[in-house]
Amino acid sequence: MPNARSDLATLVSHRSIANPELAPRDGNSEAASFLEEALAMLELTIESRDMPDGTRTVIASASAPPDAPTVLLYSHYDVQPPGDESAWLSDPWELTDRGGRWYARGSADSKGNIVAHLTALRALDGDLRCGIKVVFEGSEEWPSPGLETFVQEAPETLDADAMLIADCGSPAVDEPGLTTSLRGSVVMVVTVKTLESPVHSGSFGGAAPDALAALIRILDSFWDERGTATVGQPAVPRGWTGKEVPESRFRQDAGVLEGVDLVGDGPLADRIWLRSSITVVGIDAPAVQGSLPAIPASARARIALRVPPGVTAKEAEQGLVAQIRRATPWNAEVEIVTQAATEPFASPGHGTAFSTFRDAVRDAYGREPTEIGEGGAIPVCSAFSAAYPSAEILLYGVEEPLSAIHSPNESVDPGEIERIALAECLFLMRYAGVAATG
Ligand SMILES: [Zn+2]
Repeated sequence: MPNARSDLATLVSHRSIANPELAPRDGNSEAASFLEEALAMLELTIESRDMPDGTRTVIASASAPPDAPTVLLYSHYDVQPPGDESAWLSDPWELTDRGGRWYARGSADSKGNIVAHLTALRALDGDLRCGIKVVFEGSEEWPSPGLETFVQEAPETLDADAMLIADCGSPAVDEPGLTTSLRGSVVMVVTVKTLESPVHSGSFGGAAPDALAALIRILDSFWDERGTATVGQPAVPRGWTGKEVPESRFRQDAGVLEGVDLVGDGPLADRIWLRSSITVVGIDAPAVQGSLPAIPASARARIALRVPPGVTAKEAEQGLVAQIRRATPWNAEVEIVTQAATEPFASPGHGTAFSTFRDAVRDAYGREPTEIGEGGAIPVCSAFSAAYPSAEILLYGVEEPLSAIHSPNESVDPGEIERIALAECLFLMRYAGVAATG
């Protein structure tokens, strides 16, 4: 663990934001170089590649002993920008101990997961019974043609029997979770135009079509009275078979204000993991401050649709476009642009790697892991499951609700790094003995 801490301290000091519009690329390439050195010290062969978006995917491997399977260890070293730095209680780029937790941007998502991989490999001390492919991506948090494009173009490079994707986590500290379901996503911008330019609401209001009012009517059609999304729902809705999400914990984790209702119907796990949801994540309309008594001529919104397993991203996208067309009033002009689409993912929840990993997690934590879903997409997961249909994909990691990933004061519980590293180490020792290879 002292090594894990010093690895993480170095890693978070590199400001590895992938999007060059938000930060210089230096931090990203420094982080990549640090990881290459760390992997070379583990006597892995470095085979890093430059991606089409200009970032580097750190790749390191050790070939499989005869008849042994190959395990891929994935995580990402790029991070979200720190956001409002005044909201941080300590420097986001300096690993800081507070109350038994380690604070810094990326400490959990996903540099903490990278350090768990490194710690597991270090603990094996060269006793590699499986082939290993380490893949540390540098542009997961930035939607750009990176690793997913590379996987399509050169699938043989990353082929493996089991893929350990550490970019998730658990329902709570010391309560292990295995993620078996991910929602995909469709991001769309809709622009509504009704007038050549804004006109006086006194002179023209009552007959001149208001673009913002038209947009509001379109957006309102996305939910029923209970707040359930009207688009992107599976034709045959499944129910979550794992443990239910307790409402009190959900309300607390989400920070729902007292007296305010949750939306949707049915068990919470179904609502957040197995049903679609729609969020208007941005809207362009006249600002309240300085607004004039004028009818808006145009308005636009960015919409994020979460796509549950059982629905393809294409079906969800087509459903959303059809709903926008249906709900558009007054023959207003509408332009629709899809900006991103990611497929959902559902693990079968069984298989040699899955059960070996579940046992390893149980032994590392001293308790049985629960199966959980994740409402957000992991694009590389869809790319891997499409490119390697026979590989078993496992999702887990060191993140939990207190980690506040993507928010100020992100942190990790070092005990999670230790337990996840131990689970991986046990898995890598046992998997070769149980996996049938062809
Ligand atoms: Zn992540």
